[in-house]
This record gives sequence, C-alpha cells and structure tokens, in this order.
Amino acid sequence: MKAIKVIKPFEVEIVEVEKPKIEKSTDVIVKITSGGICGSDMQIYNGTNSLATYPRIIGHEFGGIVVEVGEKVTSVKIGDKVAVDPVVSCGECYACKIGRHNVCSTLEVMGVHRDGGFSEFVKADEKNIHKFHTDFDESLLGLVEPYTIGMQINNRLQTTSKDKILIMGAGPIGIAALQVAKSRDAKVIITDIVKERLNKAKDMGADETVLVTEEDLKERLGKFTDGEGIPVIIDTVCTPSSFEESVQLACPAGRIVVIGLKNQPSNITMADITKKELTIVGSRLNCNCFDQVIEQFEKGKLNPEKLMTKAYNYKDIIEALTMIKEHPQDVLKVVLKFED
Ligand SMILES: [Zn+2]
Ligand SMILES: [Zn+2]
Repeated sequence: MKAIKVIKPFEVEIVEVEKPKIEKSTDVIVKITSGGICGSDMQIYNGTNSLATYPRIIGHEFGGIVVEVGEKVTSVKIGDKVAVDPVVSCGECYACKIGRHNVCSTLEVMGVHRDGGFSEFVKADEKNIHKFHTDFDESLLGLVEPYTIGMQINNRLQTTSKDKILIMGAGPIGIAALQVAKSRDAKVIITDIVKERLNKAKDMGADETVLVTEEDLKERLGKFTDGEGIPVIIDTVCTPSSFEESVQLACPAGRIVVIGLKNQPSNITMADITKKELTIVGSRLNCNCFDQVIEQFEKGKLNPEKLMTKAYNYKDIIEALTMIKEHPQDVLKVVLKFED
C-alpha cells in the first residue's frame, strides 16, 4: 500500500509499505478516505516539531471505512464509517487510571511519535476507533480530530451557555473551539490579525470579532462584558506574551485554558493568579471526545465542511504542503482524499 512518509525535514515521499494485518483480537483495519493536514504535520515537514522522530508516516487526523476486524471486536463492523483517535496510552499510569489517558506518562500520538494515518490502510485498537451512525461525507471523516481539540478545550473550561468567552486566534483550533462553544450557546468574541479569518469566524457564529492590529482589545472586551472584564479565555496564539495577556485580561474568578507546547517562560507572578483566584488549565489532545464530536457532526451542530479550505488527492501531498506554506492566512484546513 501507499503511504506519505517524511523521510527527513523537507523531504516527503509517497512510499510503498506493507499493508497492516490483524495481529491482536482487538485490532481493526481501516481503509482511509480522508485526512486533515495540521500545523504539527507542517512542523514535522519543516523539522520544527520537537516531539517527532524520522522517518515518519505523518497524519493524526484521519478516518475511513472499516475493512477488517479482529475476532473480539464488537463495537464496529466491516463497512462502518469511522474516525480514528490517534492518542495511544498505557492504561496503567496515574493519569490513565484516573481517566485522563491523553496525558499518559508514556503517551504516543499516531503520526508524531509513531506512524500515522496518511496511508491507504491503518491498523488501530478497537478502543481508538469511533463510528458514525449516518452515511456521513467520506471526505470529512478525517476532521473529527481537530474538533476533538476544540471539544477538549471547552470540556476543560466546562463551558456553558452562561459564559462569555474570548478566543485569541482564529486559526483552525480557534475556529473549532468557537464552534464547540457556540454549540453550547456561549457568547464568543474572537481575535486575529487577519481580517479574512475573522470574517470566516463571524460566518461560523462568532458574536464579535476584533482585528487586534487595528482595534483596542481591552476596550472591546469592556463593551462585550459591560465593564466586567472577560471571565473565560482560550489562548490559541500560544506565545509567552499571549499567555501574559490572558492573565492580565481575565476578570476576577476567571478561567484560562492554554494549549501551547513552547517552553519559553512567560512573565507571570503568583500575585497575578492569586489576587484574582484565576483557574488556569492546560488542554492537550483529547480525552474521550471522539464520540461527542461525531454526535455533534451528525446533528449538524458542528459543521466540518466550513473548516475545510481545499481538498487534494493524497498523491499531491507536495502541492498541498506548498499551498499551506505559501498561503497560511487563507488556509483553515486542507484535506487529503485517499482515492486512486
Ligand atoms: Zn491536528
Ligand atoms: Zn498511561
């Protein structure tokens, strides 16, 4: 079978590899129909992903149709449309035992730490396979994972309809978090430095948008909250200064979620947190969010087709990567279709 392999930074090839076989009784083999290209795939390609090793079959956003199942598999059957959760955990460590396997001490992500989903067939354990109950568009099956990131963020914040939320950054993660927050009837104000992205965010339900290069965010937040200050912040900009800004902007008793993986420090004091008794939480990957997202897709409460900027055949991976590299501001999600 064919697969997309990053041999080393800036060298990507369509290679011939062995098709996976059922080995364990809980194995499932999926014929991939769709994959989403993520910022972290771009980083693996560019050599800037500190977690990845080479050579690597990339892709952690993927889905398709079940073609083979091990003898003990009961939750899916041949022909089911599914999305595959790329998070692989041990089941034994503290985090796993308390039900937070997405931060397992020996966590591996398919497509990053081990081979991923940009290939014609993928094998995964039954527990990583999540099925659709309707005849969902095959080209969108790979977009469940990016929405699980948005779902996890909102789950960590326990977003409700009472919340007013500031989302910093209207890239794919900001947009996914926005759609999930809106599906819970929260009010959302979203920022970016690119006007087109904000137009897109507005189209996807943002109550207000702020072009931070031209407008005063603090003033707009004052109006948005009747002078109260913003109680919930999702920082998808993920720079040391955006974290500092979040802590400054949050109102007393506010909640902040951070998702960045950079290890440069931010200048935040204990008093900044204590005085306002802020709740600052991290959000990583997803913890059992696949079924929640699939349900919302099928109910039409989350609209992945709006996130998709363009689709390419997987054999045109170089063209797809080049497009993302050259037009980062126009791209939300580029999808690869795995067809001949
Ligand atoms: Zn991703
Ligand atoms: Zn574990």
